[in-house]
Amino acid sequence: MIELKQIHKSFGRTEVLKGIDLTVHKGEVVAILGPSGSGKTTLLRCLNYLEKPSDGEISIGDHTVHCKKAHKKDIQTLRRKTAMVFQQYNLFRHKTAIENVMEGLVVVQKLPKAEARKKSTELLEKVGLGNKLDAYPSQLSGGQQQRVGIARALALNPEVILFDEPTSALDPELVGEVLAVIRKIAKEGITMVIVTHEMGFAQDVANRIVFMDGGVIVEEGAPKDIFQSPKEERTKQFLARYT
Ligand code: ATP
Repeated sequence: MIELKQIHKSFGRTEVLKGIDLTVHKGEVVAILGPSGSGKTTLLRCLNYLEKPSDGEISIGDHTVHCKKAHKKDIQTLRRKTAMVFQQYNLFRHKTAIENVMEGLVVVQKLPKAEARKKSTELLEKVGLGNKLDAYPSQLSGGQQQRVGIARALALNPEVILFDEPTSALDPELVGEVLAVIRKIAKEGITMVIVTHEMGFAQDVANRIVFMDGGVIVEEGAPKDIFQSPKEERTKQFLARYT
């Protein structure tokens, strides 16, 4: 289980997160929606300390980090419980698909190379890239690169996978293949937090929708409640733009 308590984040004098409380249960898929600039990506990045929260508390599983007095080791432990799938894929350009997936297994988890290669091959097959193991990112489409990014995240066996707008850099015809892979792994019970602008996908794949605006959670609930009968005016206005 993941628990965020009163997460605050400021950039200079601008407070971007204004006291976020959020619980994500094991196996849950939570989609974070909201207008541009509402703080969705910042929240996701605070969750694994890619951004340092100004205040608050983050628990993942049995590990809690108090943001005002976090030590390096605390942060490292927290990070190892998460994996992130980035908007721009963030693959190593000079490594092949399989080497990208193996990297974390060999360097972080200290798995023997042969074992790491076997596991990485299986994961790349799972995301439909069994025939691209030795391709470099430049030889792959955006959709394929993102699927390597997903295989790399899965390889780490994290307690939660964080998706930061995983399809927003893709040409429209490549979005479907990436969403299909995320859907498939969501069904396996992996805990996920997904920041997305894909409303149909969020409605379909998430157990819960969190709607943010202005650095706060305005409303959260089951997809059918949020999409069909939102309670808050701001949620209604936001969703009206997409229907
Ligand atoms: P989008 O849907 O456009 O990606 P978002 O809801 O994910 O938006 P964030 O990217 O979290 O929003 O940004 C929230 C606010 O914080 C924005 O006003 C943004 O300009 C600001 N911000 C984000 N990162 C930084 C940074 N490193 N330095 C200064 N300001 C930042």
